[in-house]
Formats: sequence, structure tokens, C-alpha cells
Amino acid sequence: MQSQEANIDFYEKNYDIVGQWLVRPGDKVILGDMENRKCRFCGKQPQEVTFKKVAHAIPELLGNKSIVSSYECDTCNEGFGKGIENDLGNWSKPMRTLIRIRGKSGVPTLKKGGKAPGWRIEYDQSRLNVTANENDPIFEVDEENKTVTFKLRRDSYTPVAVLKAFMKIGVTLLPGDEIPNFIGLMAWIRDTDHSKAYLNKCPVIYAFQPGPMPNDFIAALVLRRKKTVTGYPYAFLVLGYGNEVFQVPLPSESHDAQMSGQSISIHPFPVPGHPDPARYGEPTRSVLDWMDSRVRKGEIMTMQMGYDSRVPMEIPTSDSA
Ligand SMILES: [Zn+2]
Repeated sequence: MQSQEANIDFYEKNYDIVGQWLVRPGDKVILGDMENRKCRFCGKQPQEVTFKKVAHAIPELLGNKSIVSSYECDTCNEGFGKGIENDLGNWSKPMRTLIRIRGKSGVPTLKKGGKAPGWRIEYDQSRLNVTANENDPIFEVDEENKTVTFKLRRDSYTPVAVLKAFMKIGVTLLPGDEIPNFIGLMAWIRDTDHSKAYLNKCPVIYAFQPGPMPNDFIAALVLRRKKTVTGYPYAFLVLGYGNEVFQVPLPSESHDAQMSGQSISIHPFPVPGHPDPARYGEPTRSVLDWMDSRVRKGEIMTMQMGYDSRVPMEIPTSDSA
């Protein structure tokens, strides 16, 4: 077990924070120069492409209404939206409902498709409302421990496309002078043929911070290895919203090539957790492997919530189902 102090030391010693954003609704951040536009992803300028759409640096579905970029053309924006951001949306949707992340049209509603009486989870004003069918339980209640365990089906998604969607956020947030180090990565992210391999391994460190956390606060950081350091990955995106924090490697062909094939162990970036860990518990971590390019269908996401503490919700009795 790595202590919080050891994790803090590791990043102080080996990495610089080259970009940091902590935003709430109402904050406005524009990346780049609106008067001098050039797409970071395809290299085209206003003579060749349009820049009419608002390009969110972090997809709006993750709750970002604040950070927009001047350097994403409409063509690339549309391509990302229909492609990898759709995979990101499908993968993250059950959790976004449970932790109340507000996208373009509010917190997503989860429901079972088809004609049979099914179930529905929606966020209504201040409460998470759950309606369920006894024959198709989507959650189990543990009265003694006051917990509810949800078992929710994700819509179909391609794991490597979800990884690309997170990396696209990272390269959008990178300072402009770092872009020449990521040309290969950016080409791979834009490639809609997800079967094309670029990396062997790319573990994403995932932290879940239990307890009631603000659902409208986004924290994004870009970490870059210090110039004097070798032997660790060159750059990371750290993105936090709601109860979740993702630490995503941003591999640079010019700075990480010498490490290919080696196994490197790093400390996870420290996450603050809930101010009252005695009540809600410490953050839990896991490693997500999204290198698979095959479509995943019907995957079940399991999530346990304390029902007197985390999110107020209604548990229907059997006669109201
Ligand atoms: Zn473009």
C-alpha cells in the first residue's frame, strides 16, 4: 500500500504540472487564440475548414460547460462526437446517472429498452428516483448495512475508443509547445479504425472517492516528466469529476520510445478523497485496461452506495414497483 505522502513525493520529485484547471459552472476558460485559429488535430485553418461550433475541451457529457478550445475545427469536432465520445458516453453513462453528472440535457436517465415493464433510474430535482420491476431486479438492498448495490448494463462500447476519448482530452489540454511530441499519438486517436495497434499497454489508474462529492466540479491536470528525470512515462492527464478520478498516460513517441517493452511501476496521483474518510471510507483504486478493440455488449457495471449518506433516493416497496 502506497501512502498518500509517498504519492505526493513521487509527483513532486518527478513531474511538473504544465496545465491545471479547477472549474465550476459559470467559469469560462478559452484555450488558444480565437482570432488565430488552426485545428490542432488536422492542422487546417479557416480557409479550409469552419470553426463555428463550440469545441468543449472536456466533453459536455462529463459535466464540462466551462473549458472550450479555439483549436478544434468543426469537422474534427463532429468526428470525435460521433465516434470516440459516443463510446465514452456509453461506457460512463450508468455512473454519471448515479453520481449525478449534468450533461447537455441534464443528468442522464437510465432505462430498460423494449416493451416489457422495465426499470428506470432518473435524477429528479434533488433525488435519484428508482423504479424497478420485481422480476428484473437492478439493485439489491442490504438493510443492515444501509447499502444498495446497483447492477447496471452499459450500452455497447469499444474499450480502446474510450481510452482514445480520454487521451483526446489530454492532448487538447496540452500546452501548444508540447504538441510536436505527440503527433503519432494524435494520428492514432483520430483514426476511426480501432483495430490498428499503436501501444501494447496503457493502464489507466482509476480512483473512486466515496461519499457525497460535488457533482458540478471538474478538476483537470496535465503532468509532464521533469526534464532531469528518465525512466517514467512522459505525460499524464488527471481528470476528476463527481466521485471519479482518471489518470491517463499520454505516450509521446519522442520521449517514451526508450521505455517500450519495459515494465514500470509508478505511484498513483494523490486524490483528495472525502474530508470525512472515517465515515465514507478512503478512495479505492483500480487499473482499467482499455486496449481491447472489440465491441463490448451488455457489460454490467456494479456500484454500491450507502443510502442514508451518499445520494438521497427512493427505494420503492414491492407494491409500488
Ligand atoms: Zn480539424
